[in-house]
Amino acid sequence: MNNPFIELGIRHDIVNAISELGFENPTPIQEQSIPVLLTGSNDFVGLAQTGTGKTAAFGLPLLELLDFEENHPQALVLCPTRELCLQIANDINNYAKKMNNVHVVAVYGGASISDQLRQIRRGVQIVVATPGRMLDIINRKAIDFSQVKYVVLDEADEMLNMGFQEDIDNILSTTPDEKKTWLFSATMPAEVRRIAKKYMDNPFELTMGTKNTGNANIEHEYYVVRARDKYAAFKRIVDNNPEIFGIVFCRTKIETQEIAEALIKDGYNADSLHGDLSQQQRDKVMKRYRERSLQLLIATDVAARGIDVNDVTHVINYSLPDEIENYTHRSGRTARAGKTGVSIAIVNSKELGKIRQIERVIGKKFIKAEIPSGFDVCEKQLFALVHKVHNVEVNESQIEQYIPRIMDEFAELSKEEIIKRFASLEFNRFLEYYQNAPDLNAPADDFRSREGAAQGDRFNRDGMRSEYTRLFINLGSVDEFNRGDLLGYICNNAKITGRNVGKIDVKGVYSFFEVVNADVDNVMNNFKGIDFKGRPVRIEISGEGVSSSNRGGGGGRREGGYQKREGGYRGDRREGGERRETSFAGAGANSGGGFRDFSGKRREDRPERRKRF
Ligand code: AMP
Repeated sequence: MNNPFIELGIRHDIVNAISELGFENPTPIQEQSIPVLLTGSNDFVGLAQTGTGKTAAFGLPLLELLDFEENHPQALVLCPTRELCLQIANDINNYAKKMNNVHVVAVYGGASISDQLRQIRRGVQIVVATPGRMLDIINRKAIDFSQVKYVVLDEADEMLNMGFQEDIDNILSTTPDEKKTWLFSATMPAEVRRIAKKYMDNPFELTMGTKNTGNANIEHEYYVVRARDKYAAFKRIVDNNPEIFGIVFCRTKIETQEIAEALIKDGYNADSLHGDLSQQQRDKVMKRYRERSLQLLIATDVAARGIDVNDVTHVINYSLPDEIENYTHRSGRTARAGKTGVSIAIVNSKELGKIRQIERVIGKKFIKAEIPSGFDVCEKQLFALVHKVHNVEVNESQIEQYIPRIMDEFAELSKEEIIKRFASLEFNRFLEYYQNAPDLNAPADDFRSREGAAQGDRFNRDGMRSEYTRLFINLGSVDEFNRGDLLGYICNNAKITGRNVGKIDVKGVYSFFEVVNADVDNVMNNFKGIDFKGRPVRIEISGEGVSSSNRGGGGGRREGGYQKREGGYRGDRREGGERRETSFAGAGANSGGGFRDFSGKRREDRPERRKRF
């Protein structure tokens, strides 16, 4: 049977090259656009997400249509960032690996212009460029676009977001009127529609999936935390995903830098990528990330645009993007080429409206997730360790000489005892580290009141109107209760359903919990005479009286000193000190070393420095 790319009209030498890249079947956008573009006679608008195979969708037809015996520019691909520019040029070169005399030049800022000019002088047919540097070269009269037949505007929405409209106008004015323009965009805001109208004549339009929707393989989750807990919550999420290979988006360069620095200090394997780094520094960071010697890439939208790294497991929106449309671009860094991925947003209660807006744009619901408890993280890390031990490759020849001594040492122990001891080696440290770890989820009343604020009312998780009272109970973590245990204990004894219990705050020798007003009497009455381990259980309406959800007026809780423009981390540093949540990375798989709490001070009482396992 013929290769499906041959059937689409792609010739053998190209098909052979892409087969070596693992392209067996065309992606949906390739399947639908290649036959249209191969005619060479249409303007084209392709609305598709990043990661769907867009580069080959236009790159393969370009290789079919251009005359490579001629050494002058025939195609110009404009894209928003240096990274994407290099990637497209590299991809096209790969597709053309078995062809002769194909010359592609990548033209982008931040690198030597003389090298790029030299390559252009030597003769090129395909120019892949970012708008700023391209215009610079045009203004130097160093390139002739009079014979350009095809212009590709890739990630057009992002180029417009970045303010390249005028540059694009100027560049395109140097190309012939009869050229064909192919525009690709993940989203179709009005500005993109306008440029499509301006530059194109009755374009063939292709929409993959629903307009503006995200990749179906991405699961979207959000966590609601108080602004001051954001950094600690973020670390907890990372710790709860021992195999994470993620991109973390911040809003500003400063925030990006600060979060990366804090993570590095906390022993995580992280680095930053933003526009204030030199090209060389950015290339170095990207190289490390691609090679997976970096686990977390902390990036701004612009710097991370177009990054094509396989197997990114998580995209974390440390800060939501200013432009809602950018969420699609961010989340598109994961679940590429048919894989699955998770896109996480860490928000405070004031940002819930933005989550709803994003849901409308991507046409998909977010799942509300809970910041895991310290215990959950311990369990996750323990089993990650067990899994690693199970799968570790043993260097037989090296370890052989030590085996007799090891066997001797363990001679007295059963297999079960040995396993328990190996696991405990790490598990004890995790437990010690995470004991008394605070609950980082924003109290339910914070966001319950936010979600209801628009209607001037408060709602419970099910969207029902409800009001809660905060109760005190004289049981806590010293009695070995975590939130789940306490919920069960309360419900069993008070004979109420868990759905009527709100936030539970487990402290040392006591705890607080919320219960819907209608059940307060049930709780008080049914707990009368109940003992716990010989001690009478005492329940009182908390000193704070009714919970803030009863007070009216939008929750009334103070949101920490989060400084929007400068990045939340500053606020975290000031506000978060007393929480003492240090990095678990130092104790676990993400670790490189030191222990720091997020107030930025060395902990006096920190556990001994811990190493990777
Ligand atoms: P792109 O949207 O062009 O950035 O492509 C996203 C990823 O999918 C890249 O890693 C491509 O190498 C890969 N890819 C593109 N087309 C195919 C295909 N037909 N089969 C397998 N992988 C592909």
